[in-house]
Amino acid sequence: QPIATDMETLSRKVKKFASDKKLEIEMLQVREQYRREFLGNVSHELKTPLFTVQGYLSTLNEGAMEDKAILKKYLERAEKGVERLIYIVEDLDMISKLESGELNLEFSDFDIVELVQSVIDMLEMKAAKKNISLVLEHNNKPMWVWADKDKLQQVIINLIVNSIKYGKVDGETEISVTGFTSKKLLVRFTDNGEGIESQNIPRLFERFYRVNKSGSRSEGGSGLGLSIVKHIIEAHKQKIYVESEFGKGSEFSFTVDRAHKQFKK
Ligand code: ADP
Repeated sequence: QPIATDMETLSRKVKKFASDKKLEIEMLQVREQYRREFLGNVSHELKTPLFTVQGYLSTLNEGAMEDKAILKKYLERAEKGVERLIYIVEDLDMISKLESGELNLEFSDFDIVELVQSVIDMLEMKAAKKNISLVLEHNNKPMWVWADKDKLQQVIINLIVNSIKYGKVDGETEISVTGFTSKKLLVRFTDNGEGIESQNIPRLFERFYRVNKSGSRSEGGSGLGLSIVKHIIEAHKQKIYVESEFGKGSEFSFTVDRAHKQFKK
């Protein structure tokens, strides 16, 4: 019987190995499909602004540049297109670094209220163009967290920029930092903008996903912002939540660890 047992073990091993191999091949196929889709999306995203820029430049070259007013207008539009290309490439760079695990988090203690305020100051002009007010709810107390400050700044920028892009003229975005658990805080971004239909919510964080493609593009979106946000929050082992009512507004929130020095006291 020892031989039989050994044969059994062996055949089990062979089967296990075979099924692992199958799994491995399946995984490779999925990865390959993913890669192909990604490249397809990237080239599609880059083509649109490239053709726009080319269009303006060749029209100018064909004679339109004799007219000073048109020359200025088209050059400005071409510049906008190039700006958009830069944003897309920067977002792609960030995504690829986050996905390959190449980007290490650099943790430190900092006051998240101050960080949110600095982002608000940075984006106030952009919000003012739609007469949207950015309101930070706080009680003047610093809220110390333990996280990668630069990455969280990126998260806060993306969420506030979205609340402006998809916000209503004369609207408001409220940002609050509150206690969540004894070890975590919750940072919340509430807008009274266009909102998101519930069937679209599960896909929001996918790369390149946009509810309204043309609307998002005209706002300079690449569909990568929320995907970057999710990657950064998950790299911190934290959670991100969305609640939205179509036509009424949306609320995005994420958790962050409180700094140790806070709960030592
Ligand atoms: P984009 O570059 O298109 O803004 P994101 O990944 O940041 O890409 O967002 C994906 C999509 O989610 C957007 O195109 C938009 O449809 C929707 N969305 C994101 N934030 C909001 C918001 N605050 N209100 C309504 N829709 C939003």
